[in-house]
Amino acid sequence: MKRNVFVKNKDNKFCEIISQIDEKVEIKMTPNGYGIFAKEKINKNTGISIINFFIVPKEDVLDNILLTTNKGTYTLNKITHSSDYVNDSLVFYGWDTFQNHSCNNNALSKPYFCETFNEMYIILFSLRDIESGDEITVNYNEIYYHMTDPFECGCNSTNCKGMIKGFKHLSKDEKQAMYETDNIYNSFFKLLEKIDNEK
Ligand SMILES: [Zn+2]
Repeated sequence: MKRNVFVKNKDNKFCEIISQIDEKVEIKMTPNGYGIFAKEKINKNTGISIINFFIVPKEDVLDNILLTTNKGTYTLNKITHSSDYVNDSLVFYGWDTFQNHSCNNNALSKPYFCETFNEMYIILFSLRDIESGDEITVNYNEIYYHMTDPFECGCNSTNCKGMIKGFKHLSKDEKQAMYETDNIYNSFFKLLEKIDNEK
């Protein structure tokens, strides 16, 4: 099985994302759709997986999208499982597309430079100890600049933000606090803020 690719089916009937699920995690159903869960204890500040993403020209994206993994096949919704922050393209993820949001998230995407391969990777890191069976969550305000489909969060954490709309909608102090973390999306957010301010 190829590790991670985005392909258009020969008959132009559907697009297929092929994605290999890491051993440490599994996809399970939650009350709100699929989620990613730890299959073993993951210690604090440990790399959980490499985040794979695919930037696909909009004209190449068909309505039917299949996610084929080593643990099963899933049907993806073109709108909810893509982002459109790259001009004329949609961004898709592999199995990590099922990562759910929590305002008290236990994982964060950080940049990691691998000297052996001379390449930069986006690695999902644990922010605290994650027990086997725990859901692995990320903070969508740390990933999305402006969410086209904002939602009312039900994470029940004490610091729950309520409506989740993306980084752009955070307060000045909240943005500053995020800029002080290792979040891989920070440089991207800085650029988008600059563009917004020049409008
Ligand atoms: Zn919340």
